[in-house]
Amino acid sequence: MAAIHSRDTLPEVVVRKMLWAHGYRFRVCDKRIVGHPDIVIPKCRALIEIRGCFWHHHGWEWDGRKLVQTAMCSSATSPKSNRAFWNAKFRRNVRRDAEHEKAWAENGWNLLVIWECALKTEDEREKTFSFILRHLAKWSSCVAR
Ligand SMILES: [Zn+2]
Repeated sequence: MAAIHSRDTLPEVVVRKMLWAHGYRFRVCDKRIVGHPDIVIPKCRALIEIRGCFWHHHGWEWDGRKLVQTAMCSSATSPKSNRAFWNAKFRRNVRRDAEHEKAWAENGWNLLVIWECALKTEDEREKTFSFILRHLAKWSSCVAR
């Protein structure tokens, strides 16, 4: 099934469909931007990242030296076996995300990070969608066309 890529996982697709339905046009996984952000909306100078809570370790942040926990997400678990391997992996992922965020901010991109756990139920999805639309509306009005 060559058509199935990791970037087409369901949470991303629901966000893309919602954006399209609201008239936003976007690029997906733009190779010209560092980190290949999931969704690029030129009109709002906005990037939307849809992050898996496990791989990107939702609730943990890179403080420049180590990971620190700043929130609780039940999906950001650490497997009990191979502790060192998983810790190194999560550290690498979270650190890379932080580096990309810094680069995007320096280049004037507006960023929304959407965690997969905020898209699980219909209720959560509705809240997350209005959160996204609120920000895009604000940003699109600031960008000269
Ligand atoms: Zn989460």
